Amino acid sequence: MRDDTRRWLEADQAHCWHPFTRQAEWCGHGHHPLVLVKGEGVWLWDSEGRRYFDGNSSIWTNLHGHGHPHLVAAIRAQLERVAHTSFLGFTHPGAADLAARLCAFFPDHTLERVFFSDDGSTAIECALKMAVQFRLQTDAPERSGFIAFANGYHGDTLGAASLGGVGRFLGGCRGLGFPVQHVASLEELHALPGKILAGTAGVVIEPLIQGVNEMRPWPAGMLAALRAWCDDHGIHLILDEVLTGFGRTGSMFACQRENVIPDFLCLAKGLTGGYLPMAATLTTGAIYEAFLGAAERTFYYGHSYTANPLGCAAALASLEVFEQEKTLESLAPKIEHLRRGLAALKSRQPLIHEIRHCGFIAGIELRRPNGEKFPPAERIGEAICLAARAHGLLTRPILDTVVLLPPLAATPADLDHALAALDAALGG
Ligand SMILES: *Cc1c(COP(=O)(O)O)cnc(C)c1O
Repeated sequence: MRDDTRRWLEADQAHCWHPFTRQAEWCGHGHHPLVLVKGEGVWLWDSEGRRYFDGNSSIWTNLHGHGHPHLVAAIRAQLERVAHTSFLGFTHPGAADLAARLCAFFPDHTLERVFFSDDGSTAIECALKMAVQFRLQTDAPERSGFIAFANGYHGDTLGAASLGGVGRFLGGCRGLGFPVQHVASLEELHALPGKILAGTAGVVIEPLIQGVNEMRPWPAGMLAALRAWCDDHGIHLILDEVLTGFGRTGSMFACQRENVIPDFLCLAKGLTGGYLPMAATLTTGAIYEAFLGAAERTFYYGHSYTANPLGCAAALASLEVFEQEKTLESLAPKIEHLRRGLAALKSRQPLIHEIRHCGFIAGIELRRPNGEKFPPAERIGEAICLAARAHGLLTRPILDTVVLLPPLAATPADLDHALAALDAALGG
C-alpha cells in the first residue's frame, strides 16, 4: 500500500462517518476500502493506480461518464463567472434557463413550475410540504397524510423517510414525520377505506421500478392506472424519479413510458449528469396558484445553496449532451445488449435466481441453486461484489441482489467487461 493511501485510510477511519455503514466493521483491521482518486469516462481509478468500471454510476448518479469535456467546460466557465449567488431575492441565467428546459419536456399547462433544492430527499420533502400546504390553502386541511408503497424508498430527511417502506432503514425515527398509509399494490390501494382517502393529500411512488427494493419493477400499466385512480379521488400523484429520471429506464423520464403526467415530479441524482448535488421539484400551475395572494400563502422553504449556479450549469450541459450525443437514441440497442448479456450470464450461473431489468437498471438476485435464500449472515451479495472488484468492476449489492446500473455512456464492450467481471466473481 502506498504511503498516501495509508495516510488517507487512517484519517478516514479516525474521523469520517459513512452513510448506511457499519462503522465498527469499516474501521476494523483487515478492511481496506478503496480510495477513489480519478474518473474518466465510465472508469474510476483508486489511489494504488488500479482501474475499475463504474458499475453503479457512482451511486446511481453518473450519466455521460466522468470528466466529460462538455460538462467540465460548462462548470469551469460558470466557476470563472461566479460559484454561488443567492436565489433568495435574486435570480441567475442558469436557473432561469434550466427551469424552462425542464418544463419543456412536458406539454404546455402541465408541469410548469420548478422549485430547486439539493438532493433527492429534499426534492421529495418539498413536494410533501407543498402538497400539504396546498390543501390548507384550498379548504381541505384534513388532507394532511400520504399513501406510499411498501418497500419504497424516498430518501432520509425526516419527511421523506416517513414515506419509506424499508423497515431496516427507519432506525430510531420510526413513526416520526408525516402520517403515512402503506400499501403493497394497486389492489390494496383500491381496498383502502374512504376515511383514509379523505385524509390523504397525495400518493407517492417510484414509477416503473422500486430501486432500493432490490430493483423490483411494477407491472406494465400500473402507473397509468394509478394516475387514473388519483384523478378519480382528487388525490395528487407525486412521482419520485430521483433514480428513474434522465434516461435510466430508456426514455427521458419513466412517466413518459405510460403517458403519465404527475402533479409533482421529483428529480435529483442524474439531474447534473452526476457532477454536483442538485434537485428539482416540478409542479403544475394549478398547485402553484394556491400559493399566490396573502403573505401567509407563501411557500416558506429554501436552502442556502438553492439553485446553485454550478449545479445549473452542469444540468444544462448534461441536457445538451443528450442532444449532441443522441444519448437516448443510442441507448435502445445497448439496453438490448445488456438484456441478452444478463440472460446469458444467468444461464451459466446457478447462483443467479432472478434478473430484474428495466432500461439501464438491473438487479441480479443470488440464491442457492435449489432456490433457497442464502442466510443473511453469509452476505453473499457483498462477497460477490468484492470478488468482482478484483476483476475491475465496482458496484454494491442490496441484500443479496447485485446492482448493475451503468452510466448511460457505457458501450457494449464496457457492458461486456462488467458482465465478464460478474461471471468471474461468481465462479467463471
Ligand atoms: C436516492 C434516492 C432518493 C434520495 O436521494 P438523495 O439524493 O440520496 O437524498 C430518493 N428516492 C429514490 C427513488 C432514490 O433512488
